[in-house]
Amino acid sequence: MKIQSPAKINLFLHITGKRDDGYHNLSSLMCCVSLYDTVVIDITGTGIAVTCNSSEVPENEGNLAWRAADLFFKSFKQMTGNKGTGVKITIDKNIPVAAGLGGGSSNAAAIFLGLNRYFGNPFAENELMDMGLKIGADVPFFIFQQPALASGIGEQLKPYYGIKKQPVMLICPMINVSTAEVYKNLDLGLTKCEKKLKRILLSKQVFDPDRHLCNDLETVTELRFPEIASIKDALIDNGAKGALMSGSGPSVFGLFTQESIINKAHRVLMQNKKWRVFSAELLINTGYRILDT
Ligand code: ATP
Repeated sequence: MKIQSPAKINLFLHITGKRDDGYHNLSSLMCCVSLYDTVVIDITGTGIAVTCNSSEVPENEGNLAWRAADLFFKSFKQMTGNKGTGVKITIDKNIPVAAGLGGGSSNAAAIFLGLNRYFGNPFAENELMDMGLKIGADVPFFIFQQPALASGIGEQLKPYYGIKKQPVMLICPMINVSTAEVYKNLDLGLTKCEKKLKRILLSKQVFDPDRHLCNDLETVTELRFPEIASIKDALIDNGAKGALMSGSGPSVFGLFTQESIINKAHRVLMQNKKWRVFSAELLINTGYRILDT
């Protein structure tokens, strides 16, 4: 089974508070984009093995896909008594790692969805999402597979219908951002996206880049890495209708309205050899494509 595992962006990210367990509560508008890793699943006798073509990604139980398979098999065994199943997972990485694009969580969701399909859908979507949450806060969103307004730590999801399919450019600079550091340096008294959240909720669910794009973590990462602001400027100068950092960064995305404009911008911006530039589109209906089943 071969699964296309998409990246996500946060079109909106407001951090509402810190919880006792160390997680943060948030309100976020999340959408998948057509930049994919390929995850191949081979069902074998026993054990879980992961291989990945990126040196930045662990191939042991530190891999979120490994952990997803382990949890799936444990839950499946509990449900059916079926034991002794294993899987060989091969990940072909295209999504930049630790970049705010959710690649690891997406791979974990691909494993849940793929194994569930292989074994005849023993678990309902909400059960898979509960399992996903144990692996990471973004995993339930990927299992949900549609644009969503997320709250809680990201696990409470409501479908959002106000986004249309449109071209999006992702630019990932070669800087290392630690998500933990970003949250540590976030001053909750200085966050600025709350007003825009009200606008989104009152806007009859039509997303407007001019009025709605906002990320509370951007100020923190941008202060430490001014290159984030340069990327946003470059996207706007080359025709993007809006630009924003995704998650805790360092990836920045730009929303475009026309193929011809994004194509031209791509040719210009890919000249900067310190940036990885991807042209994609917002995914409205499907996140995952399961091939060769
Ligand atoms: P976060 O904000 O949660 O750190 P991210 O979207 O910025 O997530 P990911 O690409 O998911 O970044 O990687 C985060 C970390 O998870 C990396 O340090 C990476 O080594 C580890 N990791 C574990 N499994 C995977 C996987 N399958 N793909 C990518 N990274 C993985």
